[in-house]
Amino acid sequence: MRKCRFIALLLAVCLMLPAASLAQSQVTYQVFVRAFADSDGDGVGDLIGLAQKLDYIHDLGADSLWLMPIFPSPSYHGYDVTDYRAINSDYGSMEDFQTLLDKAHGLGMRVLLDVPLNHTSLQHPWFTEHPEYYVWADETTPGVNLDAKVWGSKVWKPRDRRYYYALFWEGMPDLNYEQPAVRRKAIDIARYWLAMGVDGFRLDAVSHIYAQAEYGATQDPERSAEWWREFRAALKVDYPDCLLLGEAWEALSMRATLLTGLDAVVNFDVGEQVMGLIKRGGSGKVFVQSLEKIYAAYAQANPDSIDAPFLTNHDQARAYGVLGSKVERAKMAASMLLTLPGNAILYYGEEIGMNGAKPDEEIRTPMLWGGDDPLQTSWHASKYNKATLPLSEQIGDPASLYEHYKALVAQRAEHPALQNGTLAWYGVGNDVLASYALTCPEETLLVIHNFTAEEQKTDFGVLPPYSSLIQPMK
Ligand code: CA
Repeated sequence: MRKCRFIALLLAVCLMLPAASLAQSQVTYQVFVRAFADSDGDGVGDLIGLAQKLDYIHDLGADSLWLMPIFPSPSYHGYDVTDYRAINSDYGSMEDFQTLLDKAHGLGMRVLLDVPLNHTSLQHPWFTEHPEYYVWADETTPGVNLDAKVWGSKVWKPRDRRYYYALFWEGMPDLNYEQPAVRRKAIDIARYWLAMGVDGFRLDAVSHIYAQAEYGATQDPERSAEWWREFRAALKVDYPDCLLLGEAWEALSMRATLLTGLDAVVNFDVGEQVMGLIKRGGSGKVFVQSLEKIYAAYAQANPDSIDAPFLTNHDQARAYGVLGSKVERAKMAASMLLTLPGNAILYYGEEIGMNGAKPDEEIRTPMLWGGDDPLQTSWHASKYNKATLPLSEQIGDPASLYEHYKALVAQRAEHPALQNGTLAWYGVGNDVLASYALTCPEETLLVIHNFTAEEQKTDFGVLPPYSSLIQPMK
């Protein structure tokens, strides 16, 4: 009897493992391979260059990598894929990818691939060989408005007396998920990379799978979520620990709906709110209460889900410039980001205060290694980073932004409450500040951020401008 009970207990613990391990990726480092490290001297970042810089990322403390698309593509960014089972020749070979994957795993890091499955490249062979994989209409299609516009552009693009649906750009036709073959292909692609050892995916445009722009809406979240639940179930049966991180630049209710088929959705609200507070001021209490509302909606949609906060990503002006190119503000934003629960994401170069604004190329410029680093890329000449201190000039300087990030990531690694604690607003006698408790089975921490340029009094003492107090609570 006792043995049975022990086995039952063991089983229960094992069943709990997949959800627990998802949260183990406490900091994810987002890399644009083209801009990161060049091993063969052509100026273009590649997988072997990245493998040679993994020690840097590991040393910073990130335990997970998000690689922006590495598949063959006619564009520099790669979000328009022509072959989902191969490596972009600019970046190297499949063997190079395996080398990178093995080295990452050897360092205990997980590798997430960015897979755009909402659309392909117009040049993907499917477009001519299997036009039925895409969304088509003509003048006779009932209910369709061929002049419908989203974000200022017509979504129906003319082709051979018909029109194909392309939400983002004419070079990226949307796939038609009404087609069982498309659904099967998408699952097969994911399983192909999981079988190779990949640990999960960053999934592009998850809210747009069922597009309805022709009817005046850009997406159908319920049906898109239904698809992601099917996708997730098909992968988790053999790969229960794989992480599915969705991109949904959408309102909270839609993000929560989509989360029913994902493990996490990137949290666009957090960065915007953090940077807004630092720049313009506001109520820290309102900020913390909005976080509570987000986490409650997420937990209700998917109790095993985790948050994925970040400051800015490859589609947004870089945090440093948004914060007025002031290092004390950039440090404050990092402190606020890295004391929130979930899988925090750092966009490469954020840790050294790289700067950039639209067009997109200027947000994706070469990582600045400095010191005549042989792996320096030169794929794009940045106009925003002339004053940015390269990494080589920040390492070892305790006052540098880089060392601040590194210390924050180390602090996060030491405290399970910072990684996956339950957050609750906690009054400290000053509602200007962001103050909260983080509770997990191991500990409860009190976190207070003074994101203002003035000294602030609290029940726990005076906080200098742009400073944080983190201490255990009894
Ligand atoms: Ca190269």
